[in-house]
Amino acid sequence: MSRRIVLATRNAHKVGELREILGDVLAELELDLVGMSEFPDVADVVEDGVTFADNAALKARAVAAATGLPALADDSGLAVDVLGGAPGIFSARWAGRHGDDRANLELLLAQVSDVRDEHRGAGFVCAAVLALPNGRVRVAEGHFRGTLTRAPRGSNGFGYDPILLVEGDTRTAAELTPAEKNAISHRGKAFRALASCLREELSG
Ligand code: IMP
Repeated sequence: MSRRIVLATRNAHKVGELREILGDVLAELELDLVGMSEFPDVADVVEDGVTFADNAALKARAVAAATGLPALADDSGLAVDVLGGAPGIFSARWAGRHGDDRANLELLLAQVSDVRDEHRGAGFVCAAVLALPNGRVRVAEGHFRGTLTRAPRGSNGFGYDPILLVEGDTRTAAELTPAEKNAISHRGKAFRALASCLREELSG
């Protein structure tokens, strides 16, 4: 019988995406990845950490404690070099309202409008965390580098994807297919790095 591991999100799309990224290790360890929609009574945790890793660990720890199951969580955002890493942990609400992707990227482009091309480096960052009910915590980080465009391009993806020109490519992240993005994205890299921790912590 397969065991369950919980992803600290109520977003079914994220659960599906992670089932693909972690497909091999989930099959190998006979783990069934479920989302928090299976646990409607567990309250959302306040993300008051000041780093991606802090926030991901807060979520994973809370879910492992509440469910008694191994838990995975991630926290991510865009870090712009010339802004010293901002929007960073404030990426989802940079323009003031949580999750207004268009307003967020328009504000960001306006803020860096005078910055020359050679100084427009930026990258998505993701911290992925595995927390066990016994209190053990493992963390992995992934980066996805590029440069900021002058205007949005492409309609795949979400968030700041239309304004990140992918390093070594002529396309923005919003012009990649989901499979292409998973293969090189911050989230893909962070969770693939965490796969070895899953093997170490959950084998047998
Ligand atoms: P979360 O970790 O899913 O809450 O993401 C926080 C915010 O970072 C999102 O609302 C986006 O604005 C931004 N972000 C994180 N990952 C990506 C990505 O892969 N593409 C575009 N924006 C992202």
